Amino acid sequence: MGGAALAVRDLVAGYGPVSALRDVSIDVPDGAVVTVLGGNGAGKSTLLRAISRTLSFHGGAMTGGSVTLDGRPLDGRGADRVVAAGVSQVPEGRQVFARMTVEDNLRAGALGARGPRTAKAAALRRVHELFPVLAERARQQAGLLSGGEQQMLAVGRALMASPRLLLLDEPSLGLAPLMAARIGDTIREINGQGTSVLLVEQNAALALRLATHAYVLEVGEVTLSGPAAELAASDEVRRRYLGVV
Ligand code: ATP
Repeated sequence: MGGAALAVRDLVAGYGPVSALRDVSIDVPDGAVVTVLGGNGAGKSTLLRAISRTLSFHGGAMTGGSVTLDGRPLDGRGADRVVAAGVSQVPEGRQVFARMTVEDNLRAGALGARGPRTAKAAALRRVHELFPVLAERARQQAGLLSGGEQQMLAVGRALMASPRLLLLDEPSLGLAPLMAARIGDTIREINGQGTSVLLVEQNAALALRLATHAYVLEVGEVTLSGPAAELAASDEVRRRYLGVV
Protein backbone atom coordinates (compact mmCIF):
# COMPACT_ATOMS: atom_id res chain seq x y z
CA MET A 1 0.00 0.00 0.00
CA GLY A 2 1.36 3.39 -1.02
CA GLY A 3 -0.11 6.88 -1.17
CA ALA A 4 -1.91 8.22 -4.19
CA ALA A 5 -2.13 11.52 -6.01
CA LEU A 6 -5.51 13.19 -6.40
CA ALA A 7 -6.31 15.94 -8.89
CA VAL A 8 -9.58 17.84 -8.81
CA ARG A 9 -10.09 20.13 -11.79
CA ASP A 10 -12.72 22.84 -12.30
CA LEU A 11 -15.21 21.00 -10.15
CA VAL A 12 -18.78 22.31 -10.24
CA ALA A 13 -21.32 20.80 -7.84
CA GLY A 14 -24.53 21.63 -6.06
CA TYR A 15 -27.85 20.49 -4.70
CA GLY A 16 -30.62 21.14 -7.20
CA PRO A 17 -30.76 24.90 -7.56
CA VAL A 18 -28.21 25.44 -4.76
CA SER A 19 -24.71 25.97 -6.13
CA ALA A 20 -22.08 24.68 -3.68
CA LEU A 21 -18.77 24.56 -5.65
CA ARG A 22 -17.67 26.60 -8.64
CA ASP A 23 -14.56 25.70 -10.64
CA VAL A 24 -12.69 24.21 -7.70
CA SER A 25 -9.25 22.77 -8.46
CA ILE A 26 -7.09 21.12 -5.83
CA ASP A 27 -4.18 18.69 -5.77
CA VAL A 28 -3.15 16.13 -3.19
CA PRO A 29 0.37 14.99 -4.14
CA ASP A 30 1.33 11.39 -3.41
CA GLY A 31 2.03 10.98 0.31
CA ALA A 32 0.95 14.50 1.27
CA VAL A 33 -1.42 15.89 3.88
CA VAL A 34 -3.47 18.63 2.25
CA THR A 35 -6.06 20.66 4.09
CA VAL A 36 -9.07 22.65 2.94
CA LEU A 37 -10.12 25.40 5.34
CA GLY A 38 -13.32 27.37 5.26
CA GLY A 39 -16.25 28.49 7.35
CA ASN A 40 -19.73 27.00 7.62
CA GLY A 41 -21.31 26.33 4.26
CA ALA A 42 -18.14 27.05 2.28
CA GLY A 43 -18.50 23.75 0.43
CA LYS A 44 -15.93 21.60 2.21
CA SER A 45 -18.17 18.57 2.75
CA THR A 46 -19.50 18.88 -0.79
CA LEU A 47 -15.93 18.67 -2.10
CA LEU A 48 -15.26 15.43 -0.22
CA ARG A 49 -18.63 13.99 -1.26
CA ALA A 50 -17.88 14.78 -4.91
CA ILE A 51 -14.54 12.96 -4.65
CA SER A 52 -16.03 9.92 -2.88
CA ARG A 53 -19.05 9.90 -5.22
CA THR A 54 -21.47 10.11 -2.28
CA LEU A 55 -22.95 13.45 -3.30
CA SER A 56 -26.09 11.81 -4.72
CA PHE A 57 -26.83 10.25 -1.30
CA HIS A 58 -27.27 13.85 -0.09
CA GLY A 59 -29.40 15.00 -3.02
CA GLY A 60 -26.49 16.66 -4.80
CA ALA A 61 -24.66 16.24 -8.10
CA MET A 62 -21.37 17.05 -9.74
CA THR A 63 -22.16 18.96 -12.94
CA GLY A 64 -18.72 19.87 -14.23
CA GLY A 65 -15.00 19.24 -13.95
CA SER A 66 -13.04 16.08 -13.24
CA VAL A 67 -11.56 14.06 -10.39
CA THR A 68 -8.63 11.75 -11.06
CA LEU A 69 -6.55 9.43 -8.90
CA ASP A 70 -3.09 8.77 -10.29
CA GLY A 71 -4.40 10.08 -13.61
CA ARG A 72 -7.37 7.71 -13.73
CA PRO A 73 -10.87 9.22 -13.55
CA LEU A 74 -12.86 8.64 -10.36
CA ASP A 75 -15.90 10.52 -11.57
CA GLY A 76 -18.35 8.32 -13.39
CA ARG A 77 -17.82 5.49 -10.91
CA GLY A 78 -20.13 4.48 -8.08
CA ALA A 79 -19.11 5.14 -4.47
CA ASP A 80 -18.17 1.48 -3.95
CA ARG A 81 -15.76 1.58 -6.87
CA VAL A 82 -14.10 4.67 -5.45
CA VAL A 83 -13.43 2.70 -2.25
CA ALA A 84 -12.10 -0.17 -4.35
CA ALA A 85 -9.83 2.32 -6.15
CA GLY A 86 -8.26 3.19 -2.78
CA VAL A 87 -10.16 6.24 -1.52
CA SER A 88 -12.00 6.08 1.83
CA GLN A 89 -13.94 8.85 3.51
CA VAL A 90 -14.50 9.57 7.18
CA PRO A 91 -17.80 11.48 7.05
CA GLU A 92 -18.65 14.55 9.08
CA GLY A 93 -20.30 13.64 12.37
CA ARG A 94 -18.61 10.20 12.42
CA GLN A 95 -21.80 8.29 11.56
CA VAL A 96 -20.77 5.09 13.27
CA PHE A 97 -23.42 2.38 13.40
CA ALA A 98 -24.48 3.01 17.00
CA ARG A 99 -26.26 -0.29 17.64
CA MET A 100 -23.59 -2.45 16.08
CA THR A 101 -20.49 -3.56 17.93
CA VAL A 102 -17.16 -1.81 17.45
CA GLU A 103 -15.88 -4.93 15.70
CA ASP A 104 -18.81 -5.04 13.26
CA ASN A 105 -18.37 -1.34 12.48
CA LEU A 106 -14.78 -2.08 11.53
CA ARG A 107 -15.82 -5.09 9.44
CA ALA A 108 -18.28 -2.88 7.56
CA GLY A 109 -15.37 -0.66 6.54
CA ALA A 110 -13.68 -3.55 4.78
CA LEU A 111 -16.74 -4.50 2.72
CA GLY A 112 -15.96 -2.39 -0.32
CA ALA A 113 -12.26 -3.18 -0.26
CA ARG A 114 -10.45 -5.30 -2.79
CA GLY A 115 -7.85 -7.79 -1.76
CA PRO A 116 -7.43 -11.06 0.06
CA ARG A 117 -8.55 -11.88 3.61
CA THR A 118 -5.00 -11.55 4.82
CA ALA A 119 -5.05 -7.89 3.76
CA LYS A 120 -8.16 -7.35 5.87
CA ALA A 121 -6.55 -9.05 8.86
CA ALA A 122 -3.50 -6.82 8.43
CA ALA A 123 -5.74 -3.74 8.20
CA LEU A 124 -7.47 -4.74 11.45
CA ARG A 125 -4.10 -5.21 13.18
CA ARG A 126 -3.04 -1.76 12.01
CA VAL A 127 -6.29 -0.19 13.30
CA HIS A 128 -5.88 -1.91 16.68
CA GLU A 129 -2.29 -0.69 16.90
CA LEU A 130 -3.34 2.87 16.13
CA PHE A 131 -6.35 2.73 18.46
CA PRO A 132 -5.89 0.06 21.17
CA VAL A 133 -9.20 1.13 22.71
CA LEU A 134 -11.01 -0.30 19.67
CA ALA A 135 -9.56 -3.72 20.46
CA GLU A 136 -10.46 -3.39 24.14
CA ARG A 137 -14.04 -2.39 23.29
CA ALA A 138 -14.45 -4.73 20.30
CA ARG A 139 -17.71 -6.27 21.55
CA GLN A 140 -19.27 -3.11 22.91
CA GLN A 141 -21.98 -1.20 21.07
CA ALA A 142 -20.42 1.68 19.16
CA GLY A 143 -23.04 4.10 20.48
CA LEU A 144 -21.64 3.64 24.00
CA LEU A 145 -18.21 4.99 23.07
CA SER A 146 -17.23 8.58 23.92
CA GLY A 147 -17.20 11.18 21.13
CA GLY A 148 -13.44 10.89 20.74
CA GLU A 149 -13.59 7.10 20.66
CA GLN A 150 -16.34 7.24 18.04
CA GLN A 151 -14.11 9.46 15.93
CA MET A 152 -11.33 6.88 16.30
CA LEU A 153 -13.80 4.21 15.21
CA ALA A 154 -14.84 6.27 12.18
CA VAL A 155 -11.18 6.66 11.17
CA GLY A 156 -10.50 3.00 11.90
CA ARG A 157 -13.48 1.92 9.80
CA ALA A 158 -12.18 3.93 6.84
CA LEU A 159 -8.70 2.41 7.27
CA MET A 160 -10.14 -1.11 7.05
CA ALA A 161 -10.30 -0.67 3.26
CA SER A 162 -6.52 -0.01 3.28
CA PRO A 163 -6.98 3.29 1.42
CA ARG A 164 -4.18 5.01 -0.42
CA LEU A 165 -6.01 8.30 0.09
CA LEU A 166 -8.01 9.13 3.22
CA LEU A 167 -10.67 11.86 3.10
CA LEU A 168 -11.35 13.33 6.54
CA ASP A 169 -14.33 15.61 7.16
CA GLU A 170 -13.92 17.68 10.33
CA PRO A 171 -12.35 14.98 12.49
CA SER A 172 -11.89 17.36 15.44
CA LEU A 173 -15.47 18.64 15.48
CA GLY A 174 -17.00 18.58 18.97
CA LEU A 175 -13.91 17.07 20.60
CA ALA A 176 -12.11 18.46 23.66
CA PRO A 177 -8.74 20.05 22.73
CA LEU A 178 -6.72 17.15 24.11
CA MET A 179 -8.71 14.58 22.12
CA ALA A 180 -8.54 16.76 19.00
CA ALA A 181 -4.75 16.88 19.37
CA ARG A 182 -4.67 13.09 19.72
CA ILE A 183 -6.65 12.65 16.55
CA GLY A 184 -4.18 15.04 14.92
CA ASP A 185 -1.24 12.89 16.06
CA THR A 186 -2.94 9.83 14.62
CA ILE A 187 -3.50 11.54 11.27
CA ARG A 188 0.24 12.26 11.17
CA GLU A 189 1.00 8.64 12.01
CA ILE A 190 -1.36 7.32 9.32
CA ASN A 191 0.28 9.62 6.79
CA GLY A 192 3.71 8.49 8.00
CA GLN A 193 2.69 4.95 7.09
CA GLY A 194 2.22 6.06 3.48
CA THR A 195 -1.44 7.12 3.18
CA SER A 196 -2.17 10.44 1.45
CA VAL A 197 -4.65 12.62 3.37
CA LEU A 198 -7.16 15.27 2.37
CA LEU A 199 -8.33 16.97 5.55
CA VAL A 200 -11.28 19.32 5.76
CA GLU A 201 -11.30 21.29 9.02
CA GLN A 202 -12.74 24.30 10.76
CA ASN A 203 -9.95 23.98 13.33
CA ALA A 204 -7.44 25.80 11.15
CA ALA A 205 -4.68 25.79 13.75
CA LEU A 206 -4.74 22.00 13.96
CA ALA A 207 -5.08 21.54 10.20
CA LEU A 208 -2.22 23.88 9.32
CA ARG A 209 0.06 22.08 11.78
CA LEU A 210 -0.57 18.77 10.02
CA ALA A 211 -0.68 19.83 6.38
CA THR A 212 2.02 20.62 3.88
CA HIS A 213 -0.39 22.39 1.53
CA ALA A 214 -3.59 24.26 2.24
CA TYR A 215 -6.53 25.75 0.38
CA VAL A 216 -9.08 28.25 1.60
CA LEU A 217 -12.60 27.73 0.30
CA GLU A 218 -15.08 30.59 0.54
CA VAL A 219 -18.66 30.32 -0.70
CA GLY A 220 -17.77 27.55 -3.11
CA GLU A 221 -14.56 28.99 -4.54
CA VAL A 222 -10.87 28.59 -3.76
CA THR A 223 -9.67 32.03 -2.68
CA LEU A 224 -6.20 31.20 -1.34
CA SER A 225 -3.78 28.30 -1.64
CA GLY A 226 -0.16 27.53 -0.96
CA PRO A 227 2.27 25.85 1.42
CA ALA A 228 0.57 25.47 4.82
CA ALA A 229 3.32 27.43 6.59
CA GLU A 230 2.81 30.33 4.18
CA LEU A 231 -0.94 30.38 4.71
CA ALA A 232 -0.49 30.13 8.48
CA ALA A 233 1.64 33.29 8.30
CA SER A 234 -0.75 35.25 6.07
CA ASP A 235 -2.64 38.12 7.72
CA GLU A 236 -5.93 37.10 6.18
CA VAL A 237 -5.75 33.49 7.37
CA ARG A 238 -4.56 34.59 10.81
CA ARG A 239 -7.43 37.04 11.13
CA ARG A 240 -10.21 34.94 9.64
CA TYR A 241 -9.30 31.39 10.59
CA LEU A 242 -6.79 31.52 13.43
CA GLY A 243 -8.58 34.17 15.48
CA VAL A 244 -5.53 36.45 15.59
CA VAL A 245 -6.55 40.12 15.48
P1 ATP B 1 -20.11 22.83 7.25
O1 ATP B 1 -18.82 22.91 7.92
O2 ATP B 1 -21.16 23.71 7.85
O3 ATP B 1 -20.57 21.43 6.95
P2 ATP B 1 -19.17 23.00 4.54
O4 ATP B 1 -18.05 23.92 4.20
O5 ATP B 1 -18.87 21.56 4.68
O6 ATP B 1 -19.90 23.53 5.82
P3 ATP B 1 -21.19 22.18 2.67
O7 ATP B 1 -21.88 21.33 3.70
O8 ATP B 1 -20.44 21.53 1.61
O9 ATP B 1 -20.26 23.23 3.41
O10 ATP B 1 -22.30 23.15 2.06
C1 ATP B 1 -22.09 23.96 0.90
C2 ATP B 1 -23.43 24.57 0.47
O11 ATP B 1 -24.32 23.54 0.06
C3 ATP B 1 -24.16 25.34 1.56
O12 ATP B 1 -24.83 26.41 0.97
C4 ATP B 1 -25.14 24.32 2.09
O13 ATP B 1 -26.28 24.95 2.64
C5 ATP B 1 -25.49 23.54 0.86
N1 ATP B 1 -25.82 22.12 1.17
C6 ATP B 1 -25.04 21.24 1.83
N2 ATP B 1 -25.64 20.02 1.92
C7 ATP B 1 -26.84 20.17 1.30
C8 ATP B 1 -27.94 19.27 1.05
N3 ATP B 1 -27.89 17.99 1.44
N4 ATP B 1 -29.01 19.77 0.39
C9 ATP B 1 -29.05 21.07 -0.01
N5 ATP B 1 -28.06 21.95 0.18
C10 ATP B 1 -26.97 21.52 0.84
